[in-house]
Amino acid sequence: MDEKNLYVETWGCQLNYHRSEKITGHLRNYGYKPVEEIAEADLIIFNTCAVRDKSEEKVRGRIGQIKNKRKDTSILGVGGCMAQHLGEDLFSQSGGVDFVFGTSNLGEIPDLVNRANQEGSVASTPKPSGFENLPVLRKSDYFAWITIAEGCSNACSYCIVPQVRGPLRSRPPEKIIEEVEQLSENGYREVQLLGQNVNAFGKDIEDGEVDFSWLLERTAATGIPRISFTTPHPADLDDETLTVLNDNANIVRHIHLPLQSGSNRVLEIMNRNYTREEYLEIAGKAREVDPLINVTTDIIVGHPGETEEDFRKTLDVINQVKFGSIYVAQFSPRPKTRSATMDDHVPEDEKKRRLKAVLEKQKECSREYDRKFVGKTVEVLVEGEAREDNKMYGKNEFRKTIEFGGNKSMIGEFRKVRLKSENTGRLVTTDDGSVKNDSDHYVKPGV
Ligand code: SF4
Repeated sequence: MDEKNLYVETWGCQLNYHRSEKITGHLRNYGYKPVEEIAEADLIIFNTCAVRDKSEEKVRGRIGQIKNKRKDTSILGVGGCMAQHLGEDLFSQSGGVDFVFGTSNLGEIPDLVNRANQEGSVASTPKPSGFENLPVLRKSDYFAWITIAEGCSNACSYCIVPQVRGPLRSRPPEKIIEEVEQLSENGYREVQLLGQNVNAFGKDIEDGEVDFSWLLERTAATGIPRISFTTPHPADLDDETLTVLNDNANIVRHIHLPLQSGSNRVLEIMNRNYTREEYLEIAGKAREVDPLINVTTDIIVGHPGETEEDFRKTLDVINQVKFGSIYVAQFSPRPKTRSATMDDHVPEDEKKRRLKAVLEKQKECSREYDRKFVGKTVEVLVEGEAREDNKMYGKNEFRKTIEFGGNKSMIGEFRKVRLKSENTGRLVTTDDGSVKNDSDHYVKPGV
């Protein structure tokens, strides 16, 4: 089999980046070797996102941009969430696309390449179903994404995900544990459990015993040094999950808990299935597990119907929870969603003003949160070289990025770092990994 070059570009969430690892893993069996330069590629894959109009605009721009960079003989395939809902309309929207595939038929790519070569433009975007077990070619040899469930069975009024990813499909739990054990044996340091709504895992499994807290406990028991997970839904974050987090030091002290709005009126319009009071209670329970737990969130500003008073309630929740970080976005109407058909749209400049207000509030909260760690020692999984010379960076057990003096040989290893200021610190571990005498190491209460 002649070796051919494959170039993959990805937009969107961790699930999509992991899906790209499956695309490269699968195509390797068809003689494709991943390359970093688009000009070298025989096959170009764009794995797209549809969460906001902006993400789709970026893809359209990129398709135009590569026209003169790609080989004349190269084939361009566009897949992922944008392709799933646009299907063959993508051909008329952007020239140069040879085939289109969906979110649950990655396995079909080799056949689509052949058909595109023979027949010209071809699209295949079947209704999302099932769970594709394809070989994975991971980008990292110490950090691994593991998808535990595909799709989402919620119906948030602004969200296109259920349309493009289909209903919740949990993966067989024994397959997940097998994969974690294999990765642990291969020396992986961290696994991140992924799901559109990760803590809905098991809701579609009949036996009723298996749920997210069950899986998290079994994952922790494998002994893998670090476990993280994303993205949980506040309404599904139960006490059992918080107990498992409390009892297992190898689970990160971080929960990403999308709030979206702090107003009950807007939460109802959004169909989020929780109230601001319930959200505050859940965030409070997480802080009982660890007062320093890093709670991060997503917020949408300018959803149809959102008044100034509603928005003030969002700022108030930010003030109360003091998030470690916030991903804030202006409302972007998505095709075929209920919110896209709603009246009472918030003017663009008003959306921008609210976005700016959240970012300013967030800066204060992040700084206040980060200051709590000054003088403490945390454990960093080293990821790479920081911009500053002789500085490395990595995430600590609160999933905050830390910079410190070090060298490349530390990549993929844990190092203890004492924080001199927010997010920068000094190694307290000698090169051979032994820990210097340190009275100030942060020990999680109760473990
Ligand atoms: S839970 Fe998340 S993925 Fe599911 S519909 Fe709501 S916003 Fe979309």
